Amino acid sequence: MTTQIKKLLIVDDDSDHITLIKRVLGPHKTYIIDTAFNINQALIMINTFKPDIILADFRLPDGDARKIVTEYSTEIPVIIMTSYGNEALAVEMIKSGALDYVVKTQENLSNMTWFIERSFREWDNIEERKKAEEALRKKNEQLSKVNKKMLHVVEELKISREKAVESDRLKSAFLANMSHEIRTPMNGILGFANLLSENGISEEERISYVEVINECGNQLLVILNDLIDIAKIEANQLTIDVKPVKINDLLNDLHLLFSKKVTTETVLTCKPALENNSDTIITDQVRLKQVLSNLISNAAKFTINGSITFGYTVKGNMLEFFVKDTGIGIPSEQKEMIFQRFMQADASTTRNYGGTGLGLAISKALVELLGGTIWFESTPGKGSCFYFTLPCYYTGIKQTS
Ligand code: ADP
Repeated sequence: MTTQIKKLLIVDDDSDHITLIKRVLGPHKTYIIDTAFNINQALIMINTFKPDIILADFRLPDGDARKIVTEYSTEIPVIIMTSYGNEALAVEMIKSGALDYVVKTQENLSNMTWFIERSFREWDNIEERKKAEEALRKKNEQLSKVNKKMLHVVEELKISREKAVESDRLKSAFLANMSHEIRTPMNGILGFANLLSENGISEEERISYVEVINECGNQLLVILNDLIDIAKIEANQLTIDVKPVKINDLLNDLHLLFSKKVTTETVLTCKPALENNSDTIITDQVRLKQVLSNLISNAAKFTINGSITFGYTVKGNMLEFFVKDTGIGIPSEQKEMIFQRFMQADASTTRNYGGTGLGLAISKALVELLGGTIWFESTPGKGSCFYFTLPCYYTGIKQTS
């Protein structure tokens, strides 16, 4: 094993001491020794000679060794030498960072090799401990990062699970609801078809039975179209077909259609903002009509008596459509979810009002596809107002199936 040569700096103004220490250490040939006689010299030597250890007398001509201890004891082991009776001072130096102290007796100076080697061993231990502590700190840091990530993953899993449970619940509710929604018109069709086949029915009865069958058939068609649309939305296959649309005509058609559908206690008003000769926009007529129909149909469904007003205002190069009603309103806790598919504000809504919970989800997808956004304001018991925007001139890329 090769012994490593160490550089020792002795700081002492007493040349006899220096000679003695050099004589003691000399035969070991493991030390390169340099000396300084005062603090100033010592500070220069520390930077040029770069000692592995410093052996410094406490009292020096230009001050005491405190400065060396406070400035260098974390980088280089410092051993303080004090004269007999000055141990308290030595202890204070240890507290300030000195590695060890030696009382300058003849005997101690003769044993200097032993003191220095002990100091090196202790220093190495301290260094190793520092390294181990640093490694531990880094490990802890890594662990805490991993821990944070794990917590994040657990949180995400929790949210996904909650979503899955909620989506499962919604799907079950949707299926139950859907079978009810399909069964009702289906029973109507079958029942009245049976009545039609009976002998002896009057012409009047026949006409009214056929009307009921037609009405029920149309209800089924609406449900089937909604189902097809939602499936296309999920598969990203909804297509739009843009061309010039005269929106005032479109609104008037809807007014005519829904005037027959609202209750006799409900007033339906249409409020277009543009003149009839400047009301042309570029959009998908069928889809725009579908969104407005969904919203007006909801307003009609949830407004037993009161008013429903629909129309649009011009906002720069966008139109802002609105459908305002004075119906039952939407509870604030349901506001976030109302545009989710299958979602109905209240589980009893289906029983009271019918519906599949698909209309708003489809409307939102359509409006966004046509370059707009949809939102609503509502006060339970007072009514709701649904808004959506559309660019007057749709320039988006047409989706193809
Ligand atoms: P559906 O009307 O077929 O149930 P929608 O997606 O169109 O499905 O609407 C979802 C739910 O939002 C409705 O069930 C109802 O709870 C609520 N809602 C929509 N429009 C209105 C409205 N104008 N007034 C009160 N509630 C509404």
